[in-house]
Amino acid sequence: MTLKFGVVGTGTLGREHIQRITNAISGGEIVAVTDINQEAAKKAVDQLGIEAKVYENDLSLIQDEHVDAVMVTSWGPAHKPTVLAAIEAGKYVFCEKPLATTADGCTSIVEAEIRSERRLVQVGFMRRYDSGYVQMKEAIESNDIGRPLMIHCAHRNPVVSETYTTDMAITDTLIHEIDVLHWLIRDDYQSVRVAFPKKTTHALKHLRDPQLVTLETKGGIVIDVEIFVNCQYGYDIQCEVIGEEGIIRLPEVSSIVMRKEARLGTNILTDWKDRFLDAYNQELQDFVDSIKETGEPRGPSAWDGYIAAVTADACVRAQKSGEKEAVILKEKPDFYRKKARKAV
Ligand code: NAP
Repeated sequence: MTLKFGVVGTGTLGREHIQRITNAISGGEIVAVTDINQEAAKKAVDQLGIEAKVYENDLSLIQDEHVDAVMVTSWGPAHKPTVLAAIEAGKYVFCEKPLATTADGCTSIVEAEIRSERRLVQVGFMRRYDSGYVQMKEAIESNDIGRPLMIHCAHRNPVVSETYTTDMAITDTLIHEIDVLHWLIRDDYQSVRVAFPKKTTHALKHLRDPQLVTLETKGGIVIDVEIFVNCQYGYDIQCEVIGEEGIIRLPEVSSIVMRKEARLGTNILTDWKDRFLDAYNQELQDFVDSIKETGEPRGPSAWDGYIAAVTADACVRAQKSGEKEAVILKEKPDFYRKKARKAV
């Protein structure tokens, strides 16, 4: 069986995912696309050489009987109505982060999915599919380093555009650490705090950069994440878990080691698309395979989208208050507890 996708939003990531499904993974096919800019959708179909119907809007695409799964790659505020309409129509959904821009929006998606009585939604938190994080999780779950006590992370981009704002350091950047870290240690966040170190002269006037976020979990693990989006030198993701018996570190991206002119060096990537290329492929392959095998996606769930939204809201509050802010999550519905046993 081939899982037939309809894509809503043919911008940067929509086009990347169309190419992945068409050329890099197996078992999926793009049969329909739409974009608020119809010309952009038509251009994507022509340029990417796919045979897909171009729809006027998301609702008509969702109603196409040939569409099994809706890929949501429009901009964040448009995600919620598309996801709700897809659930209502009984279609699978692969939704890029954010699932919705507010915790209430995520809650309404969670409630709609529970009403549908089966898991339909996967959120595009691709780091869970990165081989480095997967190896770290295996080491933690095998008790190789004993109980994790604290985690040090960094999320650095060479530079950001002038449209990037201080809160986006949380909602667009930290959001990936928020998801992957609670998955890594199987713990929930309890509180967050944000500090602003000395500002880099490379940041535009409106942007506070770097930032240092501290997250505390219910189990007492303290996590610090440096976000530095004008670091100049490259796209660099670091993660080190300190355990009672040992320490594990996210592997560096593989690169040749060069000795030249009295220096020893390796390359550092500059583009997030390259850093997580394999993880993006793996997450889509798993979406397709799990639906084929079990009738439900097993990757990051709508509940994970809700956790990310609530935690990000607390971080944005902490940016403004300078205080420790509580992360208050609703109780996890049984629906997701049962499903979590099967999940990656
Ligand atoms: P983008 O290049 O701006 O593409 C978004 C596209 O969706 C644009 O063509 C936009 O049209 C269109 N659009 C906006 N509202 C729409 C609607 N209501 N219906 C249909 N199309 C609509 O953005 P992007 O970088 O591809 O990001 C897309 C999503 O992926 C975002 O949610 C982003 O946060 C997420 N993302 C995730 C990752 C990751 O690592 N997982 C990385 C990057 C982005 P206009 O340009 O005309 O507005």
